[in-house]
Amino acid sequence: MSTPAKLYEGKAKIVYSTQNEQEYLTYFKDDATAFNALKKGTIQGKGEINCTISSALLKLLSDKGIETHFLAQKSEREMLVKAVKIIPLEVVVRNIAAGSLCKQTGLKEGLELPFPLVEFYLKNDDLGDPLLTSDRLSILNIASDEQIEQLKNNALKINQYLQDFFVSCDITLVDFKLEFGLDAHGNLLLADEISPDTCRLWDCLEQDAEKRVLDKDRFRRDLGKVESAYEQVQKRVLTQIEKLGNT
Ligand code: UDP
Repeated sequence: MSTPAKLYEGKAKIVYSTQNEQEYLTYFKDDATAFNALKKGTIQGKGEINCTISSALLKLLSDKGIETHFLAQKSEREMLVKAVKIIPLEVVVRNIAAGSLCKQTGLKEGLELPFPLVEFYLKNDDLGDPLLTSDRLSILNIASDEQIEQLKNNALKINQYLQDFFVSCDITLVDFKLEFGLDAHGNLLLADEISPDTCRLWDCLEQDAEKRVLDKDRFRRDLGKVESAYEQVQKRVLTQIEKLGNT
């Protein structure tokens, strides 16, 4: 038995140890950052919303057979998870061109991609989270070729489940970022969070390019109504989860 201690504090979450060394408690904060923390702020109530949305989506994916770190939502802002060592990669899946893809390639925002694009970025703030090529990935030796293949396959499967789910919420899943970790037995688990902080989500019921944004781009681009967009995602996700539970 060990006394719970703060293990790590990130931009949006704090991770605590628990009395069970195989479990961690994550606490979701209201703090928001963008552009590699050059822009900082607070989104009131974000911690509760992101904890609730992430818990619901991770549970949904677990029920579909995806191995995740999720164990339980312990309170409005606290999630109990399996202890994992995070692989320092951001796995991004894109269905529609937006954000850095447009900036770096000139593709027009909103263009539907011919296939879901899976990209690996190095999780390193000092280096600005650079995009990796597959050879760079091999040389960095962060994960084996087999694990990289597994990450890509899992990311594509998760994309399929999440896309279908969000369509049922009248939301388009434009792109999102995933993080994975390894448990004590070396199993690869989906970790971190899935929320409007880590996904681009567009309201299908809204045509206007600014009004349709229901994610952290409202904060990044100073579009206003950030809290109400996050609340809207939570409302639609929970309503749909409840519907699924009743069928
Ligand atoms: N993303 C994230 N954390 C990061 C970088 C990206 O959650 O550190 C998410 C982001 O919210 C978006 C997707 O990954 O849903 C793709 O982001 P992109 O590469 O376009 O970067 P950005 O435009 O956010 O700089």
